[in-house]
Amino acid sequence: MNPTAISSQPLLLSDAEELRDLVESARRDGKTVALVPSMGALHAGHLSLVRAARAECDFTVATIFVNPTQFAPGEDYRCYRRTLDADLAALAALGVDVVFAPAVEQMYPDGHTTTVDVGGVALPLEGVCRPDHFRGVATVVLKLFHLAPAHVAYFGQKDYQQSLVVRQMVGDLDLPIRIRVCPIVREADGLALSSRNEYLSHSERRQALALSQSLRLASELYCVGERDAAVLRQRMREVFNSAGIGDIDYIALADRDRLEDVAVVGDETIALVAARVGKTRLIDNHLFDAPFAIHPAAR
Ligand code: AMP
Repeated sequence: MNPTAISSQPLLLSDAEELRDLVESARRDGKTVALVPSMGALHAGHLSLVRAARAECDFTVATIFVNPTQFAPGEDYRCYRRTLDADLAALAALGVDVVFAPAVEQMYPDGHTTTVDVGGVALPLEGVCRPDHFRGVATVVLKLFHLAPAHVAYFGQKDYQQSLVVRQMVGDLDLPIRIRVCPIVREADGLALSSRNEYLSHSERRQALALSQSLRLASELYCVGERDAAVLRQRMREVFNSAGIGDIDYIALADRDRLEDVAVVGDETIALVAARVGKTRLIDNHLFDAPFAIHPAAR
């Protein structure tokens, strides 16, 4: 066999046993194994996680699974973009070793009943707006950690609360895996990359900038000394109002570890926003320990 061909073309698997065998064999060979879970429809944000994984580990598994249990009825599970061929091409170009793209029946066979409820950091914010979401996320992530027993799993700061939920689960359940959280990749104008940006019309795309602009404003005010969370929240709300976005789920200034609201903003604070632009629900966030910066997509 030609080793070049093997390294440039990831092995596409849908069978869980095959996946586990491959990962265990890579571990036996002394390789460090990376896991990059996603729902596919890959963009440069996802690919930044893959790049980090490739740079830091010897063997990279990417998973593509639109997980039904993290969508509520009426959310976009059915119309979520499925672009497996393009995803495979992008992952091949980055030298991913294995792509696991299971069927729903593989992950949730008839009769499955066990779920993971993390509590704590899973309860506020997204936990209020999407009450069953993190149960679905934690359950599928735990399953993926078992099916692909990696040394390191890569997540994006874009879904900040999700990264906290996963870390909490890893700690509470003594899972032998390290969690790496990579920076948010943004368009040049600040919009955080998201698979759901594809749903936006031209004018909604412009309105959607309010999320990142509100975070940038909060950062700028913080950098010139504003520490009052109520003031920052009000100024952020004005950005949404000016953009004509009325359907705001939350504008939060919270402790970065527990996600509890703070009255006084400091370096340990995070600003998190969630709003609906047209029918599309978008989220974004900013950690105050550094000024708002745009991490553009790598070319
Ligand atoms: P998803 O396919 O939406 O479940 O996302 C898979 C992973 O990609 C999650 O860990 C996300 O946080 C991460 N991700 C999504 N968008 C971005 C982005 N703009 N920058 C960095 N990571 C991202």
